[in-house]
Amino acid sequence: ATPTSIMVATGRAAAMGVLFRKGDALQLLRDTDLVALDKTGTLTQGRPQLTDLVTINGFEREEVLALVAAVERQSEHPIAQALVDAAEAEGLAIPAAEGFESVAGFGASAEVAGHTVAVGAARFMTRLGVDIAPLAAEAQRLAEAGKTPLNVAIDGKLAATVAVADPLKPTSAQAVAALHAMGLKVAMITGDNARTAKAIARQAGIDEVIAEVLPEGKVEALQKLQAGARRIAFVGDGINDAPALAHADVGIAIGTGTDVAIESADVVLMSGDLAGVPRAVALSRATIRNIR
Ligand code: ADP
Ligand code: MG
Repeated sequence: ATPTSIMVATGRAAAMGVLFRKGDALQLLRDTDLVALDKTGTLTQGRPQLTDLVTINGFEREEVLALVAAVERQSEHPIAQALVDAAEAEGLAIPAAEGFESVAGFGASAEVAGHTVAVGAARFMTRLGVDIAPLAAEAQRLAEAGKTPLNVAIDGKLAATVAVADPLKPTSAQAVAALHAMGLKVAMITGDNARTAKAIARQAGIDEVIAEVLPEGKVEALQKLQAGARRIAFVGDGINDAPALAHADVGIAIGTGTDVAIESADVVLMSGDLAGVPRAVALSRATIRNIR
């Protein structure tokens, strides 16, 4: 492409809310045949809500929710916010917490009102030696509905399964369909559990899923996908996505995402949703088509 045609195209893209931060991204996007998407905050709204709380072993809903909120008040994870909001909405008194610890991609724990309280993914409970089998069927049912089930342990004993739901953005499925129509493959990478991830992917029309990826494992997941692709674009919004955004042939950040993600990206979607991705691909194809 001539410098002028690229300038014109990037100008048109900007008018559509697609910001090219690097000139060669337009060219690289033309040959992209696989788009990998982060789930939380990219495909989904990124504001999970508490939907279910199932207790066991004689524990009661309100005490469990208050203890969980006490732990999660110390955490910055979007799931934590959902649980604190729910406890506050129910007017529960949230006790003080001490010795808060969070393990990225696993969960969080603290001492609350004389109890050790832990909340997180199944793998977190495995690490703590808590048997989650008594609520496994319940967790599976919730995950198959696209919800994220979390386990709560109080003093080392399973107390509840809590589920949060984080729905797709209204435009996500349409954007995936548009990419498919242009002949691109679409994949999803997430730290969430495999069943939940598959259910969400199905809702979005995505067929390839890499789930239960640890925050530092996103680049490795991307490399796995890269093996089967000519060029790969990665779309993400979070701090955890920055290395993958930098590693992909084309890194695309959601404009409403974190600054670190935006700074690591080649392309920024100002609208805060995925509609700009097929637009950017179409524009790159129209611009670069005849010149190679
Ligand atoms: P994602 O961005 O896909 O949610 P994360 O790596 O942040 O991926 O989290 C992966 C999983 O770890 C979550 O789905 C959840 O099960 C668990 N987890 C992480 N942090 C917390 C927390 N503060 N409270 C409860 N669960 C957590
Ligand atoms: Mg995200």
